[in-house]
Amino acid sequence: MQFRDLQAQYKALKNEIDSALLQVASDCNFISGKQVTELEQQLAEYVGVKHCVTCGNGTDALSMVMMAWDVKPGDAVFVPDFTFFASGEVVSFEGATPVFYDVCEETFNADVASLERAIQAVIEEGVLHPKAIVAVDLFGQPADYVALQEVAKKYNLLLLEDGAQGFGGKIGEQISCSFGDAATTSFFPAKPLGCYGDGGAVFTNDDTVADYLRSIRVHGKGSFKYDNVRIGWNSRLDTIQAAVLQVKLKAFASYELKNVNEVAVKYTELLKDVVKTPIVPQNMYSSWAQYTLRLESEDQRDALQTYLKEQGIPSMVYYPKPMHQQLAFDGNRNYVDCPVTEKLCKTVLSLPMHPYMTDEEINTVAFHVKEFLSKNN
Ligand SMILES: *Cc1c(COP(=O)(O)O)cnc(C)c1O
Repeated sequence: MQFRDLQAQYKALKNEIDSALLQVASDCNFISGKQVTELEQQLAEYVGVKHCVTCGNGTDALSMVMMAWDVKPGDAVFVPDFTFFASGEVVSFEGATPVFYDVCEETFNADVASLERAIQAVIEEGVLHPKAIVAVDLFGQPADYVALQEVAKKYNLLLLEDGAQGFGGKIGEQISCSFGDAATTSFFPAKPLGCYGDGGAVFTNDDTVADYLRSIRVHGKGSFKYDNVRIGWNSRLDTIQAAVLQVKLKAFASYELKNVNEVAVKYTELLKDVVKTPIVPQNMYSSWAQYTLRLESEDQRDALQTYLKEQGIPSMVYYPKPMHQQLAFDGNRNYVDCPVTEKLCKTVLSLPMHPYMTDEEINTVAFHVKEFLSKNN
C-alpha cells in the first residue's frame, strides 16, 4: 500500500498528462510558456483572488512575501510551533525573528489565545518590532482566519496564510489561499495539488505586492527582462510543471477533492469509537493533505506505527519535533510555552490518505488500527 498513491493518479490522468508534457517538449517553451500564465489565471479564479504569482516552490513563495513586506532584522514574525520547518525558516532567512506560538489540540492549527500572549510578550519586552503573523492550514484544514484577522487588526500586523497543505480547503464558501493579506501554496508532489517536481504560488488581492512579486521572481526585472530595478532572485514555475498542474487542477476540482473527503468520512466512521480521529469544525472543509490520529502516548503511537509497518501499511509522524526545539532555532527566545505542540509531536500518526484510495484499502487500514488498539489500550 502507498501512503499517497501518485501512480494511481497518473494512471487515471495518463492520456491528458502525457499530451500536456509532450506539448511542452515539442514547443520547447520550457521557461515562462503560455501554460504558466494560463495556470495563474485558473488558480486565481479557483481560489477567488485577484492575483496568483507562481514560483519555484512553496518555500520561495513564503520568502517572496517576506521580501514584499520588507520583513527585516529586528522584526518579530509569529509562527505556529507545530508546522513544517519552512514556515519559520523563511523568517530567519530575512534576518527577522520567528516567535513561536502554540496550536489547538483538536485542529492542529493556530491557538489564537497563545498567539495573543506571544504578541503581548514581545510588545512588553520592547526589543522586537511585531510585524506579521504566519498561520498554517495544517493537514489541509484552514486555520481560524476569522479570529486571526481580528488579532492581526488589533495589533496592526500583516497576516500570511501558509496554505502549502491547504489548497482546496474552505471556511464557509471562502476557499483557502484567499485568507489574510497574502497566501502561499506548494505544488510539491505529495501536497493536495501537486506537480511533477517543485512548484509554488503566492495569492493576493494587493496589486502592488503582486507587481513586486512578478519582478523579484525574475531578478528584480523592471519593464523588461534586462532592465533590473531591484535585487531579486530566480524562482519561476517551469512550463512543464504548469502543464501538469493544468490537468491536475481540473481533476482536483471535479472529483479528487470530493473523493478525498469521502475517504476521510469512511476512516472516521470506522475509527471514531476507538481513537481520536481528526476534527473538522462546523463551517470548515479540509483538503486532507493528511489524515492524522492522536494516540494516548508516545509508546502507544510508536508501537502502532511499528505494527502497521509489519502489516505493510505505511504511516508517518508529522511532525516529530516542535519548531522551538529545532537546532536551527537554537538561541531563539521562547516567548510562550507550547505544551500542546510538545504533546502532539509525541502522539500523532498520519495514515495513508489520497483521493484514489479504495474501500478495500480504507477497510484494511482501519481493521489493523482497531486490531492493534483492542490489544494495546
Ligand atoms: C511543504 C510545506 C512548505 C514548503 O513547500 P515546498 O514547496 O516544499 O518548498 C511550507 N509550509 C508548509 C506548511 C508545508 O507543508
